[in-house]
Amino acid sequence: LIELRGVNKHFGTLHVLQSIDLTVGRGEVVVVIGPSGSGKSTLCRAINRLESVESGEILIDGQPLPEEGKALARLRAEVGMVFQSFNLFAHKTVLANVSLAQIKVRKRKKEDADRRSRELLARVGLAAQADKYPAQLSGGQQQRVAIARALAMDPKALLFDEPTSALDPEMINEVLEVMQQLARDGMTMVVVTHEMGFARSAANRVVFMADGRIVEDRAPEEFFTAPRSERAKDFLSKIL
Ligand code: ATP
Ligand code: MG
Repeated sequence: LIELRGVNKHFGTLHVLQSIDLTVGRGEVVVVIGPSGSGKSTLCRAINRLESVESGEILIDGQPLPEEGKALARLRAEVGMVFQSFNLFAHKTVLANVSLAQIKVRKRKKEDADRRSRELLARVGLAAQADKYPAQLSGGQQQRVAIARALAMDPKALLFDEPTSALDPEMINEVLEVMQQLARDGMTMVVVTHEMGFARSAANRVVFMADGRIVEDRAPEEFFTAPRSERAKDFLSKIL
């Protein structure tokens, strides 16, 4: 479903993505971990073209990423992204936040969009919060709204960039549980996270990045019990 071949990107002289090859099949959950600055966010952002790349190919369902315009908006609907910082519209209700792109990008009628939004808000445990504003919600609730909003586009895949890093500890699990459920329901997911429990229980593969390269790409049991590279051993010894 998602395929990167020989992808390279620099920021100035920094080679932030170095010959990245990565394939994510339909229904797969790939967790990306690695030290700060290793290129995890840039990788995620490249997949839905929030960052351009210099060389190599990125294919979604065998198609190259569109450059601009409506096709790019459609791509970002089909490969949705959930950020650390929620990015909700503060002056719109929860319901309106989830409905907005359905109306603009998917061209749904408002009433159809709102119906779908309420279904999805129920699915993430927020049926009762539909008419509130983001500031009236906890961080964990706001992040679940952001997930509902991404789901409202009927995405083929979802990218998560540290979705729980900005949350207080007691709110992390409610977001991870929603993500676990999505994984069980067969959603294709690329998840940058430091939550190793999630990686162990939900991931089909763990991709370990360091210095702009994919150093390991393996099943979680293997990666956590017997990392091959010194970089991964060093990283795991610091976080586990
Ligand atoms: P973290 O765990 O801290 O989120 P990361 O693995 O997500 O790190 P990236 O955000 O992908 O890392 O950044 C990789 C490198 O590229 C870092 O050294 C960062 O400073 C640099 N970088 C990221 N975005 C830009 C930018 N827009 N301009 C210049 N340098 C950038
Ligand atoms: Mg990052």
